[in-house]
Amino acid sequence: MKKTKQHASSKGSSKSKNLALPKGMRDIIGDQYYSFQGFFEKAQEVAVYYGFKPIETPMLEHVDVFTSGIGEGTDIVDKEMYTLKTKGGDHLALRPEHTAPLMRSYIEQGMQNMPQPVMFYQYGPVFRHDNPQRGRYRQFWQFDLDSLGSDKSIVDALVIKVGMSILEEAGAQNLSVDINSIGDKECRGAYIKELTSYYRKHINGLAHIDRDRLKTNPLRILDSKEEKTKEINENAPDSISFLCASCKKHFKEVLEYLEEMGISYNINKNLVRGLSYYTRTVFEIVEQEGGEDGSPLALSGGGRYDYLARQLGSKKDVPAVGFSIGVDRIISSPWYKKLSPRIMRKPKIYFIQLGSEAKLKSLNIIDILRKAHIPIAQSLSKDSLGSQLAVAEKLGVPYSLIFGVKEALEDSVIVRDMASRSQETVKLSKLLEYLKEIK
Ligand code: AMP
Repeated sequence: MKKTKQHASSKGSSKSKNLALPKGMRDIIGDQYYSFQGFFEKAQEVAVYYGFKPIETPMLEHVDVFTSGIGEGTDIVDKEMYTLKTKGGDHLALRPEHTAPLMRSYIEQGMQNMPQPVMFYQYGPVFRHDNPQRGRYRQFWQFDLDSLGSDKSIVDALVIKVGMSILEEAGAQNLSVDINSIGDKECRGAYIKELTSYYRKHINGLAHIDRDRLKTNPLRILDSKEEKTKEINENAPDSISFLCASCKKHFKEVLEYLEEMGISYNINKNLVRGLSYYTRTVFEIVEQEGGEDGSPLALSGGGRYDYLARQLGSKKDVPAVGFSIGVDRIISSPWYKKLSPRIMRKPKIYFIQLGSEAKLKSLNIIDILRKAHIPIAQSLSKDSLGSQLAVAEKLGVPYSLIFGVKEALEDSVIVRDMASRSQETVKLSKLLEYLKEIK
């Protein structure tokens, strides 16, 4: 889409107003809108089939929901959150993701009293003050799916399977799962200690940003994008070797389920997914060679977050697992199936009106057709037969209804077969019956 800047700020003037679209944000219109809507409908259909229920949490939450949940030392919390102080003094943030708000809701709504696990899907915009570039926006859309209240390995496998199915239904091919286990509170401490001591030994080789992470969030160094750090990461200790017996069993079971379902996976020891709420399973669903340079492209990411509830003030742990799919990336992929929203129906009939008497009654006739679920097109603002027929030809509809002054007086309408150009006058009271027959 063309970028227009004509009404942006006039710098220098004390009255200057900036009325342009904020950086990294978009107006979603036309085919792009339908692409999003079609995807969300398909994703919901798959999620509902597997027993997930809808939920919608607000776009604004208290900042603490994210700082306690996602944790400091993460890009999201340190650099990317849109925060604001309300007039009432609340410190709020536009949600940068859906998981922490979902857990906040679980706790606040007392969902621990419902049969466990509770399984939800949710979708909508998330906001990150990221550097906008191709495929990266500051407002983008995620579809999330989560199961809260069970620590069973089959639930990890279930959410991965649902994620794969949604992506496949959208047209993705060559998918595989990058997976790792980062352990639980029994074993993660020893691992992080070992990892920290390894990085301390190689501190001079680490990129600057990763030296800082060593203090705040050493796990993050493992998925660093910095070339210098990547070399050091090759020999870094891996979390799987440190797993305690129950984490090892859990991970082994998840992999067995994936094998049983024929889902191809790759154990990626550098996958940690950065956010401090993750425990045990972390995964990404990647499209092999989906990146611009033929590298794998992550379409979805997720994992287990068994301690998030406690970080958000719950007295008890709530074992949970989920993922989020980056929808912008899906709908701009060459393989995207252009899923059509259910409300989009190709018009079968073009409605033409001629003269003021006919125009006056036009909306009543269109309403009869709507109530009978007959998809139509019209251009009520046009007056001449020629210009209206031209639109009908362009749309390629099989039939037109022509409603002129004479028809308006006689409560009838002309049905025109666009291919043969034959016409028949039909009483309005018989119209639906007639249309049913020729359909
Ligand atoms: P994350 O929540 O960071 O794990 O991201 C989950 C998915 O959201 C990624 O796999 C991307 O597809 C997508 N995503 C993350 N950041 C952005 C962004 N700035 N713009 C568009 N999509 C994004």
